[in-house]
Amino acid sequence: MRRQFLKKAHKALANPTLQKALDQNAERRECERVRAFSTLPNPEHTLREAAQIRRQTIDNLQEYLAQFIKRAQENGIQIHGPFSAHAAVLTAAEIAKKHNARLIVKSKSMVSEEIQLNQTLETAGMRVVETDLGEFIVQLRGESPGHIITPAIHLLREDIAKTFASELNVPHSTDVSEMTETARRVMRKFFLSAEVGISGVNFGVAETGTVCIVTNEGNGRMVSTIPRIHIALMGVERLAPSLEDLAVLLQVLPRSATGQNLTSYVSLIQRPRTGNEPDGAEERHLILVDNGRLAMHRSQLQDALLCIRCGACLNACPVFREIGGHTYGSAYPGPIGSLVSTGLFGIEQYGHLSKASTLCGACTEVCPAGIDFTKLLLRARGEYVRSAPQPAWLRAGMPLFTWMMASPGRYHWAQRVGSLLTRLLPNSGGWLYRLPPPFSGWTRSRDFPPFAAEPFRERVHRLKSAGNGTYKVDKKLRETQVQEGEPQHGDLIVRFQEELERIDGEFVHCSAEELPNKITDFLASIEANRILGWGERSLELDSIVDHLREKGIQILEPEIPRSEDGNIRYEMLAGLDQAPAGLTTCLAGLADTGTVILPSGAGQSSLTSLLPRTHLVLLRAKDIYPTFDHWIRAGGREAIASSPQLTLITGPSRTADVEMILTLGVHGPERLIVFTLD
Ligand code: SF4
Repeated sequence: MRRQFLKKAHKALANPTLQKALDQNAERRECERVRAFSTLPNPEHTLREAAQIRRQTIDNLQEYLAQFIKRAQENGIQIHGPFSAHAAVLTAAEIAKKHNARLIVKSKSMVSEEIQLNQTLETAGMRVVETDLGEFIVQLRGESPGHIITPAIHLLREDIAKTFASELNVPHSTDVSEMTETARRVMRKFFLSAEVGISGVNFGVAETGTVCIVTNEGNGRMVSTIPRIHIALMGVERLAPSLEDLAVLLQVLPRSATGQNLTSYVSLIQRPRTGNEPDGAEERHLILVDNGRLAMHRSQLQDALLCIRCGACLNACPVFREIGGHTYGSAYPGPIGSLVSTGLFGIEQYGHLSKASTLCGACTEVCPAGIDFTKLLLRARGEYVRSAPQPAWLRAGMPLFTWMMASPGRYHWAQRVGSLLTRLLPNSGGWLYRLPPPFSGWTRSRDFPPFAAEPFRERVHRLKSAGNGTYKVDKKLRETQVQEGEPQHGDLIVRFQEELERIDGEFVHCSAEELPNKITDFLASIEANRILGWGERSLELDSIVDHLREKGIQILEPEIPRSEDGNIRYEMLAGLDQAPAGLTTCLAGLADTGTVILPSGAGQSSLTSLLPRTHLVLLRAKDIYPTFDHWIRAGGREAIASSPQLTLITGPSRTADVEMILTLGVHGPERLIVFTLD
């Protein structure tokens, strides 16, 4: 494995396309991350809180896991496991076979990559379609994802255009919107006809048994709403103790992952479809994946389980930024991959990855879960060194090095000698370009700086004696503004509008009397003569529905037939999919993210806000809350418990999977218009 790693690393370094793509991704993501955290009133506090929540979860993993399993079962979710990789894939295959699945749609799940789920399902004769755009692209190319958040990070649009032309039989086009539109059209058929949907899980909430899935494109909603059977895969460590804790984790996950204040769609799944509910999976299965996690929990790499898979450490890592994800040879690349791969799959196979780090600490700096990478990487290195045969010079040299470092006097003497020797070696512009053996490997690919003429400790001592001993901490996140105090209601509307518009949503402020005409005018502008609506009515919705009917606009109330006959379901869904707009109310708005919260259940089909190109939402100004946490504490907890699948919608469906270029409407609506009523 180590040899393969080195070979792939050399290849990656010599690939200018990959280098360009990696640089582009890392720089954009880092800027967006810093911007997103700067919108929090106190980012440092939130990060500390998130890290504490993860620490508390991992310290009490068995208790929270037992609580989560109990609650989820009470909610009607069928729990399987915790299982090894082998047992997990067999269980998924058995469930799919039992329901005669031929086509499975799947949203992004790192756990499924880890256990190689697709291969098993395909061997059993089922077709598995990855529906995240980036995953879809790499699946068409027969590759694995290059990054845990941006799977097609290693590809330029020209590569993707060629893949689409050859695999999907469409005209060659490098226009990113056109490519996204092609993906939407092709995948629509799969979504509407698949018997089973598979997803990952971002968090399981222990106190309520809620399954939380976040996606930007809306494919997570599609796979958990349309197929009759939903199978979710979750690593046993991906828990949040309470809904309030989830609210904190949802503040840091999207900010760290994609630089968004909140991901476009956060689905909070409580239970399967029951009674007269119009949609949602009729069976929900949750496969808990152990696959070495519980053993890792007892090991010295336990802290790697704190990870919430945001990918920020990959973007920050100078090694990942040069060699990319495929070089690591594991489903989990980058700094966290070096730890998780070693912890889950063994030091023999992946121990060498602990050396794929400069120990610069950039990963620790950005990690919202508070993982001390340097400590863990050194532990993994120690174990690796003990387990693998080392060259003779290293075996002899380490005791000498230990002896030297064990005494301040000897250490000081070694610094002086090192400084003198490195000054005698050949250099170019002050940098050494050829070190003698056994250090010559270093200068084969990069230069080496000579030791400082004045050692650091001496410099500090001199500066302190000169009275210049004050040092500034230069951390970008610490420069952000701290705002205090609860906002007033008028401020909430303004903030809601600003945030909604920043994420490409549209805001209309009007009175209840003006609303019917505003909506009919809009529908006339897009030539819509039929729309999707909700059977469950509020006062506002009732008056609009009457008005629209008077104007000759047909309002369809979606309901997926419970039939097992795929053709009947497909015909019905394909008809609904033609409606250009959907009209719903919502439970609340969140000012800090420009989010609307939609329930589901009897008379409140999720399809209305998912299938059409445009989603129109009515929001009462008095229902705008400062944050998700405020809403949970003000009664949101009950709404989550009573809704089979509640969704936080933050802007239109979006993707930046092709060269980081933003396009809207990849699976869900491309327009989100919020009519805010006084
Ligand atoms: S280790 Fe930290 S930074 Fe890296 S993916 Fe996990 S949570 Fe994100």
